[in-house]
Amino acid sequence: MSNVVREPEFEQAYNELVSTLEGSKLFEVSPELKACLPVVSVPERVIQFRVVWEDDKGQMQVNRGFRVQFNSALGPYKGGLRFHPTVNLSILKFLGFEQIFKNALTGLMMGGGKGGSDFDPKGKSDNEIRRFCYAFMRELSKHIGQFTDVPAGDIGVGGREVGYMFGAYKAYRNQFEGVITGKGGSWGGSLIRPEATGFGLVYYVNHMISYASGGKESFEGKLVAISGSGNVAQYAALKVIELGGKVISLSDSKGALIATGEAGFTEADVELIAKIKLERGYLTQLYEAEDSTLKSRFRYLPGERPWVHLPKVDVVLPSATQNEVNDVEAKALIKAGARFLAEGSNMGSTQEAIDVYEADRKARKTEGLWYGPAKAANCGGVAVSGLEMAQNSQRVSWTSEEVDKQLAGIMERCFWNCLNTAKEYYDVADGELPSLVAGANIAGFIKVARAM
Ligand code: GLU
Repeated sequence: MSNVVREPEFEQAYNELVSTLEGSKLFEVSPELKACLPVVSVPERVIQFRVVWEDDKGQMQVNRGFRVQFNSALGPYKGGLRFHPTVNLSILKFLGFEQIFKNALTGLMMGGGKGGSDFDPKGKSDNEIRRFCYAFMRELSKHIGQFTDVPAGDIGVGGREVGYMFGAYKAYRNQFEGVITGKGGSWGGSLIRPEATGFGLVYYVNHMISYASGGKESFEGKLVAISGSGNVAQYAALKVIELGGKVISLSDSKGALIATGEAGFTEADVELIAKIKLERGYLTQLYEAEDSTLKSRFRYLPGERPWVHLPKVDVVLPSATQNEVNDVEAKALIKAGARFLAEGSNMGSTQEAIDVYEADRKARKTEGLWYGPAKAANCGGVAVSGLEMAQNSQRVSWTSEEVDKQLAGIMERCFWNCLNTAKEYYDVADGELPSLVAGANIAGFIKVARAM
């Protein structure tokens, strides 16, 4: 990468993958796969374009648009679109790179890609968002298609944005096809797609808890810290509550809510948060509202993430954005008793934080912290996107029960695939929990590299 501009987020994601592959027996057993490493690190294609749109005052505005078509060995490029002011090529390359292996871990036939824009949906009117989405799709529609590249949502892109972009695609291409996933139910979207990332994350962690405790423990009674309050965090929280766990934190870019007792959020609290977030509002509005019931049960910490503020915690689900847990925070979580940490966010942990988790897992065996990396733990979202593509191709819609059952099966197979692959390619000491980060990386890489 020496003569290429520095891409810190992408380099972090690449180095994380390579370190677990090189530390394993993989290249001794299958030396031929090594040649794929430099190849897989370069996107097949990167599309960059200008997005010119008109704001409500009639002023011309401009943003940058991107689509990284990273790898199509397993199927059409697949991955979300992120609209956030921090978006740049390094971030989209890290997300696209992770997506390749995540998609492989779902067991479905999907390649990896990612795209987005530095457009900030916060503070924009619905009309501005619609005009932006149409302008964005004017260019992107030339490069995607149901058999070529199938985008979906990510941070800043939810059902409304997907709707505008699908409408724009139809207008520009005159084709009704499953070109985007996360669509509305009445025009081809899959049931359970909005819930899928959060539900899938909790299903994955359920297997971690059950395996580590020899089937004795579950979410019942566990204290669960979640960050974020968007789509992933909301549905993870609802599933944890349904399974008897206590959600003791949620957060957004302005601050964190931490439970003062052990009661945690109710379903009604989460629904209220979902409503505020749909209106692009902040948790502080809810907390400060005159009729707020949150004040008696939560502390609001402006500008903070939850991690160093938890006196006691069992399960940690970072579900906000990349690098949202660092090594200092990782140590604080371990001190507070955390035994399971799985990422709803992509690359939620810094490399230094992962080193802390992995050292604790090795040193304290089942008493230590067990880490479920994003590309495995949050693959439920893109998995149900894959199921949406399947339903679109067949012109059918499955029931919620059917989709949820398939999602649960995919998360279960993904968990065992990570676990068994880790055991196969690393020596696991007696009583030690296998490294799921190594297992996920190796299993994902093998599938993609063999196909390449
Ligand atoms: N943005 C989600 C992810 O990070 C979903 C992508 C998709 O459904 O294509 O996996």
